[in-house]
Amino acid sequence: MIAEVAVDCPMKKLNKVFHYLIPPHLKQFISPGSRVIVPFGRQRVLGYVLDIKEHSDITQLKYIHDILDGQPLLDENMIKLGKWMAHRYITSLACCFNAMLPSALKTNAVEKYTVGDNCYDEKLKTFLSTPKALGELIKAFGLSSQDISLYIKRGVLVKQKHYEHKSSQKYIDILQLTKGVTKEDISKRAYRQHQLFEVLKNQKEVVFQKLPVELKRAANSLVEKGVVLKKQKQVFREPNNINIQEKCVISLTSYQKQVFETVSESLSNLKRDSFLLWGVTGSGKTEIYLRLAEKAISQNNDVIVLVPEIALTPLMVNRFKNKFNDNVAVLHSGLSQGEKLDQWQKIKEGKVKIVVGARSAVFAPFKNVGLIIIDEEHENTYKQEENPKYHTIEIAQKRLELSQGVLLLGSATPSIESLYRTEHGEYKLLNLPKRATANEMPLIDVVDMKSELENGNRSIFSKKLFKSIKKSLDNNEQVVLFLNRRGFSTTTLCRKCGFTFKCPSCDLTLTSHDNGNFLICHYCHYQLSKPNSCPSCKSIHLSFNGIGTEKLQKEVQKVFPKSKILRMDVDTMSSKDSYNKVYQQFADKQGDILIGTQMIAKGFDFPDVTTVGIIIADMGLNIPDFRSAEKTFQLVTQVAGRAGRGDKAGVVILQTYSPEHYSIEHSSKYQYKQFYLKEIKIREALNYPPFVKIIKFDIVANQEERVKKEAIEVAEMLKELQKKHQIQKSEILGPVMSARYKLRNNYRWQVMLKTNNMKQWLDILNKYNFPHKFSKGIRVSIDVEPTTTT
Ligand code: ADP
Ligand code: ZN
Ligand code: ZN
Repeated sequence: MIAEVAVDCPMKKLNKVFHYLIPPHLKQFISPGSRVIVPFGRQRVLGYVLDIKEHSDITQLKYIHDILDGQPLLDENMIKLGKWMAHRYITSLACCFNAMLPSALKTNAVEKYTVGDNCYDEKLKTFLSTPKALGELIKAFGLSSQDISLYIKRGVLVKQKHYEHKSSQKYIDILQLTKGVTKEDISKRAYRQHQLFEVLKNQKEVVFQKLPVELKRAANSLVEKGVVLKKQKQVFREPNNINIQEKCVISLTSYQKQVFETVSESLSNLKRDSFLLWGVTGSGKTEIYLRLAEKAISQNNDVIVLVPEIALTPLMVNRFKNKFNDNVAVLHSGLSQGEKLDQWQKIKEGKVKIVVGARSAVFAPFKNVGLIIIDEEHENTYKQEENPKYHTIEIAQKRLELSQGVLLLGSATPSIESLYRTEHGEYKLLNLPKRATANEMPLIDVVDMKSELENGNRSIFSKKLFKSIKKSLDNNEQVVLFLNRRGFSTTTLCRKCGFTFKCPSCDLTLTSHDNGNFLICHYCHYQLSKPNSCPSCKSIHLSFNGIGTEKLQKEVQKVFPKSKILRMDVDTMSSKDSYNKVYQQFADKQGDILIGTQMIAKGFDFPDVTTVGIIIADMGLNIPDFRSAEKTFQLVTQVAGRAGRGDKAGVVILQTYSPEHYSIEHSSKYQYKQFYLKEIKIREALNYPPFVKIIKFDIVANQEERVKKEAIEVAEMLKELQKKHQIQKSEILGPVMSARYKLRNNYRWQVMLKTNNMKQWLDILNKYNFPHKFSKGIRVSIDVEPTTTT
């Protein structure tokens, strides 16, 4: 018997599988989806068995060395999915399978020592009856590293790679009475043993670890006598969840009913279908998710519910647990490795039918996925930024194609690309145009920061925002202040008129390099040397557009010294529970003002918030990315949704240097449709997605000159391939210094490929093993349809 194995060795050909013989003693354990250890060159590496065959044309095959798990970890559909991913994202098979598994199952290769044929020292032999690490060996026998290399040469010791799980399952010991035993089986004077006997008779089973020391001793004696049985039982570690009880039964609005029935019909007919639910914030999307999940599990299907980031999972989990109790597993990166592993196992063993989680939960090991819900589908966090650089929506599509299920994407501001797909029948569009409750969306007041400056106000607060904050605080209400930190501080902005420098052909913001000595379009390589004054108003007050949340907090504290301020951003949210803590504090009104980045834009529901301030909306607009207008719109809408959630009306004050920008203008009036119509025309005119597909190549290394040389090489090679295979409708842009040129002592260049022939390019790039074509020490990474081009 031959196993086809995808080996985990980064330098090897991307999609190549290798053949191995299956040793007789492993025959009954190895099947497709098993993880194995195989010899590879002079190493031993991890591999995934993809198939079992009767024979192979290759001679002199090696044997599989070992198997890692009792059960295969991947089923047939997951193997198919992995193969598809490797091709689609131009990466290795093993890399894709690794991405499907919880990190606790990932193995660490460690060097260990065992006895060699020439070892005659009995003590050493006994010691090495189980493999030992170098440190243990040195400690026990006082050997030096020279001794050890000598021993290895002489065949006394053998050095081997061993694979260990990082963290494993948690077990507890359960005590039970052996059937048929009576009091008479215990000696009369053993008081503690009698005591334990009584406990066990009443409680049937107790946890050994929870007993007091004296009873533990008694238990051990009884186990030895055979009166008590000690068994291991796995415990599933449960992550902490918030618990907010909700209003009881809700009857659906007529809009909701229609949406529910349409999707429900596809579920009933087990049809492969994709829907885009476009529903304004608070329109009752989540209520529909809950009912569709109910429907799906009533048909014995499994359900995956995805939220864009950890921050939003507690809220969604809470709502699902309220309805489905223990039928819900949770998976996201905020869990400990052990918790994640246990949740994963619960899913794998069919103990739950629903999982709520972030991106990677799309790989939840359900057997029969019938419904995948992706909430806030437009969010960038659904794109994985490391290999395999997959998009969650694409993975969901593929999984559902394999298991015949329904995809439901939901958003108040769907991505331009998703909306475009509804026009072409790829997704069916569903609408929830009104809020489910009587609350209106808050008014968004746009403040022009240029005129504030003209009127002598140099503070980061406009007069309006200041007044509104003050009023809210005076009324004992709460304030949320939002700052988009994804903006680059390398944008050059005129402080007087708001002018930013843009590329004439790409319409993207130029980024400054070399301390502003030249400005560059990182998309097409257009360059401009250092400007002295604003081309629009001639002012010489050009500035970098940068302020952080920390600085903002100080400013706010200065202006409102009596207020209690909480902050939420990546810097303050380092520990696992800090998010929940700040959330709870603000909910309990232990804070008056909450300052934050993207993190506070979504999902928050605090009824006492009456002022929401967007400090500088332009920070998002000036990101040199063709999606910057779209992203800004989405963010404004989401931030605005934080105001006026309760009975009191709320206001949103949006500060900007470019009030006339179509993204600001439409977002402040909640006109997403109008925005879409304008934006899609611009995309078409400038040939951006969805009218073209992009593949981005990043060339990274720590030697400045070499990176540049290699980047030129990448572009040349692509041009050659294009010519050789006569690929039509493609354009190769660059190489060009990346907008984030120098990061952690690495230099970064990029090449952009725009094409309408994606399939042909994917086939060719895979065939040429493209990322591995380049010299050592240079990283060429490929991003197929990147979510940002910076
Ligand atoms: P979304 O997910 O679209 O933002 P939610 O499902 O969270 O909206 O609903 C917003 C609020 O409206 C929630 O408090 C929810 O309980 C309530 N709600 C939803 N549907 C209804 C309904 N049919 N009748 C009354 N209240 C509803
Ligand atoms: Zn100007
Ligand atoms: Zn350009």
